[in-house]
Amino acid sequence: MTTLLIKSIDYLATFDDARREIRDGALLVRDNVIDQVGTTAQLGSTPADRVVDLSGHIVMPGLVNTHHHMYQNLTRVMVQDDELFVWLTTLYPIWAQLDDEAIYVSARVAMAELMQSGCTTSSDHLYVLPNNATLDAEIRAAREVGIRFHAARGAMSRGKSQGGLPPDNCVEKEDAILRDAERLINQYHDSSRHSMSRIVLAPCSPFSVTPGLMKEAAQLARAHKNVLLHSHLAEDLDEETYCAKVYGMRSVDFAASVDWLGPDVWFAHAIFLNDREIQTFSETGTGMTHCPSANMRCGQGIAKIRQMRQAGVKVGLGVDGSASNDTSNMFLEARLAQLLQRVAPARYLSETPGGPGGFGGNPKALSARDALEMATRGGASVLGRDDIGALAPGMSADFIAVKLRQLGLSGAERDPLAALIMCGPFKVDHSFINGREIISRGEFTALDVEEVLASHRTIMSRIYQQ
Ligand SMILES: [Zn+2]
Repeated sequence: MTTLLIKSIDYLATFDDARREIRDGALLVRDNVIDQVGTTAQLGSTPADRVVDLSGHIVMPGLVNTHHHMYQNLTRVMVQDDELFVWLTTLYPIWAQLDDEAIYVSARVAMAELMQSGCTTSSDHLYVLPNNATLDAEIRAAREVGIRFHAARGAMSRGKSQGGLPPDNCVEKEDAILRDAERLINQYHDSSRHSMSRIVLAPCSPFSVTPGLMKEAAQLARAHKNVLLHSHLAEDLDEETYCAKVYGMRSVDFAASVDWLGPDVWFAHAIFLNDREIQTFSETGTGMTHCPSANMRCGQGIAKIRQMRQAGVKVGLGVDGSASNDTSNMFLEARLAQLLQRVAPARYLSETPGGPGGFGGNPKALSARDALEMATRGGASVLGRDDIGALAPGMSADFIAVKLRQLGLSGAERDPLAALIMCGPFKVDHSFINGREIISRGEFTALDVEEVLASHRTIMSRIYQQ
């Protein structure tokens, strides 16, 4: 057993059940688990194998990213000004060039970018698997870079000839999808506490799979402990139209019809939920991922986050794919979540006769702490985890430190926690994941960024040449 003492932390935001924020804080870590949390006066003289002085820093739990498509960083800034279905149908043929090497290299870029912006746990929804590509490639990347990883085995099975949106060369056979999902669970899924590797089953969307695959995926997931279900839902008005036309129902009713509501299910986006459907999410324990950047980028709309949180829905944050974001920055996502809720139309002034026109927002819609809570505890709850998202005894040792003495934070000493997103985003100076130091003084301890970038460039030129 090894012990690690982190002391003299200027500001320690624990996000524990009491939401303690401690000045001159300290943490004692045993192996990969937090043992004690307190002040430097209380813990500072505890003997430890390693002592790290983090004076001049704010420390908080690592951020939890609950929706991504990492491979998309090979196609950033493409289709800049079109709606979702045009965006997708333009990109599908390029994504059809992916293979294991492209998935591995793009995952390394995405994971490094995420970790620099505070993320210590990420899910990735990989649903395009042409050329015998597998999730094994990104799981290997996660193990090498040291991020806690929930690999979501995505899938598309309804090609254009079957009334779906993707071209036929981007879809897989349903029995092969399910066989591969079971293989991944047996090979990589660790259901235990402090697990670094979990498998999620994730058919892509109502317009790219069949109801039969959704039902069978749910059955397969529920036969295994802590295997969760994930998909896109209520993401776009075109999806609403598709569900009405093909299934004769709203998308949440479609989810219910394939047994996809429950505490083991979370959906990305969930923008177009009415009051009844928000209540359904709350009552069934169904979670959602809010992706403000992508929702703004594709002009989709504003999810009712304030209303969902008030109704008790589990809400996490996600950067979404790097072709619709086009970054993997979790602090930025928390900042945009806060700001976007504030401009969500609380009341349509233009509908008031003789009114001033335009629409009004609400500065109380979401606080900085609410947004950071969604990025930590919220994400953990969506992923079905009670061992990450807060710093308290018995929790996984996943925490980040941001340097306070930097230009963008000067003058924010009164509230350094809110400042992380109100003045940011910032890069982390230190990141510990499962007790292991991944970033130290702003540098990766075991990742050669230049090498990662060079291999990314090589893959990109190959894909675009084809
Ligand atoms: Zn997505």
